[in-house]
Order: sequence, then C-alpha cells, then structure tokens
Amino acid sequence: MRKTLVAANWKMHGTKAFAEQLLAELNSGLESDDCSAEVVICPPFPYLGVVGAAAENAEQVALGAQNLSEQPSGAFTGEVSAEMLLDCGARYVIVGHSERRSLYGESSELVAAKFAAAKGAGLTPILCVGESLQEREAGNTLKVIAEQIQAVVDLDLGNTWQNAVIAYEPVWAIGTGKTATPEQAQEVHQFIRQQLGEAGPATQILYGGSVKAANAAELFAREDIDGALVGGASLQADEFIKICRAA
Ligand code: PGA
Repeated sequence: MRKTLVAANWKMHGTKAFAEQLLAELNSGLESDDCSAEVVICPPFPYLGVVGAAAENAEQVALGAQNLSEQPSGAFTGEVSAEMLLDCGARYVIVGHSERRSLYGESSELVAAKFAAAKGAGLTPILCVGESLQEREAGNTLKVIAEQIQAVVDLDLGNTWQNAVIAYEPVWAIGTGKTATPEQAQEVHQFIRQQLGEAGPATQILYGGSVKAANAAELFAREDIDGALVGGASLQADEFIKICRAA
C-alpha cells in the first residue's frame, strides 16, 4: 500500500520567524489530529536548519529541499550538493520543478542528472513533470510527460524508482488557482504509473497545481493520486493542515 504524502514547496517565501511559527503550528496541528499522511517541508536553503530542527520533534514531518546541484562538489559558486542537503538533515529534494525548467533553463537531461545525484546520496528525489497549456491544447500532454520521464529512465540507474517520488504538476495549474479536475489528474497519474513498469504499483505519485483544502479530498480520492505537492497553500498553517487532514 502506498502511503499518502503531502509536500510543501515554500518557493522563495518566508523568514526565519515565519518558519519557526509555521512549524510550531503544524507540529501541534498534526499531532492533535492523528494525521496519517507523511509530510515533507521544502523551505528555501537558508531555513533548512530551522525547519529541520522543528521537524525532529514531529515523527511524520521530514525535511526537503527545492533544488540541488548535479555535481558532487567543486568550484560551482552558489550551488548546493546532495551531500550537503543530507548533512543538513534533508531526506527529500524536489527536482525539475517547472519554474526551474522554464525560468532557469533546466533541460530534462539536467533534471535527470540531478535526480541521479539525489539518489546517489541517499536522498529521495521528488521528480516534477507536467505539460504547459499550449502542450495540453495541442493534445501532447502524455507525450511530454513520457519524454520527461524517459530522460531519467535513460540514465539506467538500476531500481530507478525505488525511493523516488513523482509529482505531476500541469504548468497551467501552478499558482493560477486553476486546478486540474480529478479526472484530468487521474488520467495522467495512471499513465505515469504505467510508464514506471514493475515499480509502478509501489511508487508515490503526487498531484501539484493550486491544491487547497477545498479540493484536496476529491483529488486524494482518486486511485492513482497519492498525495500533493503544495505551493501557495503550504504557506498558511491552517490551510496546509487541512490538506494533510484530507489525506
Ligand atoms: P501552487 O504551486 O500550489 O501554488 O499552485 C505548486 C507548485 O509549484 O509546486
């Protein structure tokens, strides 16, 4: 059985005080609630320590990062390696978020190299895949997703999907308030699961894109939707706790 996982992607938001406050609310909210979902918080790099320390007190809350370098170490100014994240207590790392792909020019090949670096260090990558509105309207959704996944498969890592998570995030649904319908999401999730072959049944596949308390339950009710990657709504403790509860 796949456990439900709810991951928070804070993007470039927050302060140290915000992180402390939100984690305190989250810890007490989840505890009193007996919430059964696994929860991952991905703050900006400077707050890994603060969130990590708070997460230590909460059994089901794990620390994640939003990005990493594909390189192990060296003269790469401004970059952060998988080993460093691990050293700071992270267990997860998001790779290939559509903002990284579109704003920072990350190709599927680079994303795959980051996926490999994460796995090599013992971190669980959360691989983001998703189509743009233009690609959906042209009928290319499944083709685009298949290509993004294939770039990782091509690396031939061996047990590629073991200790890895996939997040389906249609680009047109991110930060727009426009969520994919549960039917649209389920269709793509089922397709992704098929692409994973033998690893399909055991791999967690999250949905991301304007997830909020009001739509989480109907998404989680779908057979192949194993949780969510939450942006905007993860910055409000109340709203985020409600999403975790829906799981
Ligand atoms: P959103 O972001 O929930 O604000 O749409 C999701 C994401 O970018 O991971």
